[in-house]
Amino acid sequence: MKFNTALLHGDFRGDKATGATLTPVYQSSAFEHESAEELEKIFNNRAPGFSYTRISNPTIDAFEKRMTALEGGVASVACASGMAALYNAFCNILCAGDEIVSSASLYGGSIDLFRDLESFGIKTRYVENNNLEEFRAATNEHTRLYFAETIGNPRLDVTDIKKLAELAHSFDIPLIMDNTVATAYLVKPLSLGADIVVNSTSKYINANSSAISGVITDGGKFKWDTEKYPGMKDFKKFGPFAYTAKLRNGLFRNTGACLSPQNAFYNSIGMETLGLRMERVCDNAKTLAQFFATEYSDIEVNYPGLAGSKWHNIATEQFGDKFGGIITIRTGNKKRAFGIIDALKLPLIVSNIGDTKTLVIHPESTLNVHSTQEEKETAGVFDDLIRISVGIEDIEDLIDDFKQAIESVKDVY
Ligand SMILES: *Cc1c(COP(=O)(O)O)cnc(C)c1O
Repeated sequence: MKFNTALLHGDFRGDKATGATLTPVYQSSAFEHESAEELEKIFNNRAPGFSYTRISNPTIDAFEKRMTALEGGVASVACASGMAALYNAFCNILCAGDEIVSSASLYGGSIDLFRDLESFGIKTRYVENNNLEEFRAATNEHTRLYFAETIGNPRLDVTDIKKLAELAHSFDIPLIMDNTVATAYLVKPLSLGADIVVNSTSKYINANSSAISGVITDGGKFKWDTEKYPGMKDFKKFGPFAYTAKLRNGLFRNTGACLSPQNAFYNSIGMETLGLRMERVCDNAKTLAQFFATEYSDIEVNYPGLAGSKWHNIATEQFGDKFGGIITIRTGNKKRAFGIIDALKLPLIVSNIGDTKTLVIHPESTLNVHSTQEEKETAGVFDDLIRISVGIEDIEDLIDDFKQAIESVKDVY
C-alpha cells in the first residue's frame, strides 16, 4: 500500500467488538476479568488483554498500532507528551554514569531534559549535527546512545540518518531519532537504520492542536548487549520486542507516562489525513520560502527546500521533492521580528508547530528562554528570528498577509 492508503487501511482499522469504524474511546481505567487466573496471565504477559489504562487500553492500542505501521517499526508506546516519550525512550536504556552524544541542534525542551538528566548522573555531549568526526570524538566507553532530530527544530538542519546510524552501530550503540518535524511523510528513520524513533504527536500527527501526546516506536533490530545495557537482561527473551517489553513493564508504567484514551482517539482521527496535509503544507512552505528569498534582500530565509540551503542536498536525497512545513526568517533585529509577528493577521502566535493553521513564534524569547547563549547559537536561535509553521491555508492569502505585515513595519525598523 502507498502512504495515504496505508494510513487508512491497516489492521488497526475499526473495532472488532462492535463494528465501529474507528476504535471508540474506551474511557475506562480498569478492565474486568472472569477469573483471578485470567488476570494473572495478563499481568505476566502470558495472555493478551487489558488490565489497567496506565499500562494499556484498547483506544491507545489502536493509535499505537497506527503509529507502528506509519513508522515501519515492530511496536509503539504512546505517552502523555512528546517530552514524556523522549524521557522514557532515553531512560529505558540508561543508567547513572552513562553518556549521550547528541546533535546540538535540538528542540529547546530536549536541551532542558538533558540538563535534568545530569542530576541522575547522565551526561550529554553536544556536537555539530552531521559532523561524524565530532560524533566519533565525543564517543567513549560510557556512551549509550546517539540522538538527533530528522529536521532540527528550529535550526532546520537535516540529519544524514544513514551515516549517523552506521557510525552508532560501529560502536554497538543505538540511534534514536526525533521525527516530529519531518514526520514519516518525508522519511521513515527506521528504514534508514535508526533504531528507535520518537514523535511528538501533538504536532502534525494530531493535526489541530487538540491533544498533547508523544509516541516511541521501536524498529526491533538493535542487538542489545547486556553488558552495556544490564537492564535488558530480563527482556532479551522477547527478541525484537525486548526494548518495548522493558519499557511497558518498567519505566513507562512506573512513571505513569500514559496517554489518555480520549487524546489517543483525537490522534487516530488526525493522522488519517497526515499525507494530504503534509503535501499541502510542504507546497505552501516552499512557495512562501521562495517569496521571502526573491522579494526581500534584507530578510534571510532558512528552508531546506531552497537550493541555497546548506542542507538541501541531504534533504533531497532523503525526502525527495518535499521539505516539510517549517521556515525560519531572520529579520535583522528583534524589534522588527516582533513588529512583523504583531502585524500578521492570519498566523496564530503560539508555541507549537504542525497545526492546520499557520503559526508563528519568536523562539529566542520563549521556547529557548532557559538555554544558555551558546546553546541558543548551536540550536540556531537568534533574537531576530521568527519561526513559521506553515498551515494548509490558500497560499495567496498567506503571501498577502506576510507582505502587508512586512510593509507595515518598514518605516519603523
Ligand atoms: C514539540 C516537540 C517536542 C515536545 O513534544 P510535546 O508533545 O510538546 O511534549 C519534542 N521534539 C520536537 C522536535 C518538538 O517539536
